[in-house]
Amino acid sequence: MMQYISTRGSAPTLTFDEAMLTGLARDGGLYVPAEIPTMTAEDIAALAGLPYEEVAFRVMRPYLGTSFTDDEFRGIIERAYAGFGHDARAPLKQLAPGHFLCELFHGPTLAFKDFAMQLIGQLFEFELKRRDSRVTIVGATSGDTGSAAIEAFRGLDAVDVFILFPHGRVSEVQRRQMTAPSEDNVHALALDGHFDDCQARVKDMFNDFEFRDGVKLAGVNSINWARVLAQVVYYFTSAVALGAPHRKVSFTVPTGNFGDIFAGYIAKRMGLPIDRLVVATNQNDILHRCLSTSEYMVDGVIPSISPSMDIQVSSNFERALFDAYGRDGTAVAQLMDELKAGGFKVSQGALQALRENFDSGRCSEEETLATITRTLKHSAELLCPHSAVGVHVAEAHMGSSPMVTLATAHPAKFPDAVEKATGVRPGLPPRMADLYERSERVTRVENDLLAIETLIKDRIHL
Ligand SMILES: *Cc1c(COP(=O)(O)O)cnc(C)c1O
Repeated sequence: MMQYISTRGSAPTLTFDEAMLTGLARDGGLYVPAEIPTMTAEDIAALAGLPYEEVAFRVMRPYLGTSFTDDEFRGIIERAYAGFGHDARAPLKQLAPGHFLCELFHGPTLAFKDFAMQLIGQLFEFELKRRDSRVTIVGATSGDTGSAAIEAFRGLDAVDVFILFPHGRVSEVQRRQMTAPSEDNVHALALDGHFDDCQARVKDMFNDFEFRDGVKLAGVNSINWARVLAQVVYYFTSAVALGAPHRKVSFTVPTGNFGDIFAGYIAKRMGLPIDRLVVATNQNDILHRCLSTSEYMVDGVIPSISPSMDIQVSSNFERALFDAYGRDGTAVAQLMDELKAGGFKVSQGALQALRENFDSGRCSEEETLATITRTLKHSAELLCPHSAVGVHVAEAHMGSSPMVTLATAHPAKFPDAVEKATGVRPGLPPRMADLYERSERVTRVENDLLAIETLIKDRIHL
């Protein structure tokens, strides 16, 4: 029986589908599997040469318990990845001797969030139809998450999706990806304010229980366990392609909310021979500072050219802390209370446990641009600024195992930074070249909770 428990120790234990539809636990914690399933070296060796979808099935299946049958889950996976522009889904490219790039940007919105969001869209649709139910998904975005969510849920019957983004503060590609879809269950809302305002209004809606229950609010932010799980798969496909289980492989991951790298840690716990997992941060380096000094201190976001990693509080780090503290939910709850007052210090024992699994490094703005310039010159590869942060940090952590850096977005999603570094303005892939010509559909909203709630109640198809 596969069960999910909260990192803060006091919320009810749930099944996979319940944890997926719930998102955040009622005690404020994050759901994690009560036990991590493992794969033997033989199981891992047998993944060699299989299609991505089949590896996805074998890696994720044990986490689902009885929530879906094998056939149901195979169908969900097929539909989730059918819209990708590359048959390998997560292809590897060599950058230098021993250094590889795993390209995670061939999904419909050109960023790695498609891997998780496309799967979660299909999982939600299937489960809600079975329950003869609907939900209203509300999310805040600084760009990538919102477009990935809209792309994943557009046209589905059981879901309305509302995405709040800061008016005038997302890139043109990101905005158009949110405003171009014409399906009437999609609602892009441009809020007069900053990303923090968007996030605060979403939080307010979840705390307004009458509204929350009335519209059946659901969240798909990066703390949803199903999103983490979907990201475990490409660690397996990459490592197996480079010689696992017979050879160890290391990964460097451009990190913000710690979801992507935490998936790598889960892969390792499952038995994948991962040597090092390297957290790469931009100038917003709270995670690098914490792993270096044990102090997790919030001190404000400085906007960077890798905006999807500009974070103050890295939400999924709580899951790593839970394990580092020996799965003591009370200890984690206490740290999170201290965080509300500005920060906390990780205990010596927990820090040691974290360092057994994670290395870290930081990349400045100048280093990001220099890495984009250098990588084009030496490897004929155009990197997005997030992937460049990863490549820079990976180069400082090369060891005896092959290194895989996760390339988290397509360069065309961040054309200004790439052009500044290389003089080359990256073009969109041909399959979405018409994005700039498509008409846009967006509603301007004031930064006012009641106005937003009223609009949502008017629009939904409950
Ligand atoms: C979201 C995002 C990241 C950070 O991933 P986390 O799982 O939040 O650590 C990095 N790069 C890009 C392009 C992203 O969209």
